Amino acid sequence: MYCRPVRVTLLLLLASACGVLTGPPVMPVWAQGRAWTNVPTSVVITPEHDPRLPALHEAIDFWHRTLAELGTPFRLGPVTQITDTIPIDYLTTLSAQVLNRTGYADFPDSIQKLPGDLIVVLSEGDFISFAARSPAGGKVLVGIKSSRRYPLTLPNVTRNLIAHELGHAIGLSHNADPTMLMCGRPAPCRPDAFQSDTERFFPLTDQEKTRLMSIYPTNWPNR
Ligand SMILES: [Zn+2]
Repeated sequence: MYCRPVRVTLLLLLASACGVLTGPPVMPVWAQGRAWTNVPTSVVITPEHDPRLPALHEAIDFWHRTLAELGTPFRLGPVTQITDTIPIDYLTTLSAQVLNRTGYADFPDSIQKLPGDLIVVLSEGDFISFAARSPAGGKVLVGIKSSRRYPLTLPNVTRNLIAHELGHAIGLSHNADPTMLMCGRPAPCRPDAFQSDTERFFPLTDQEKTRLMSIYPTNWPNR
């Protein structure tokens, strides 16, 4: 995984040289592997009474529990809920660019001005859910697809899908083990692997726990 940022950077440089990109390029969060140096304030952009809201709060609780068990002081900040939407066309395009590991223009002003470092959008769109970071403002945008679309219609998937994207948002990349929370491309596992008749969060690998402690050590943020 760690060779990818170099490859992506080279591709972005080539693309920029060829005039393909129209704005400052940013990379998927998982490709950057960056850590927060402050407690990120969080905003969720959602339709009113969205059925995914309980799963979002469960996922945040999962991360706070996990981080506490690991012994790091790092936490996600308080969550503010805003009843609004982000255009589906924008999220669909950004999702494809994240998936294809191409560069993309920085977030538009409408997103930059939102009062949160971590912005979670519960969308009605049918795209592949994603996490992406803006280098300019340091914001991370997490896009979650419609709850009416497969595989979010399967039991236990939504809470783990959101937890997975939040894992990217705090600096984790993918692994190839379908029994683990952060399994993903290029491995063949997909979010439908989170389906379960019992409500549970999939676990982290030992390597991921070690990485979290390396980027959020016990003296974080005073490194
Ligand atoms: Zn992922």
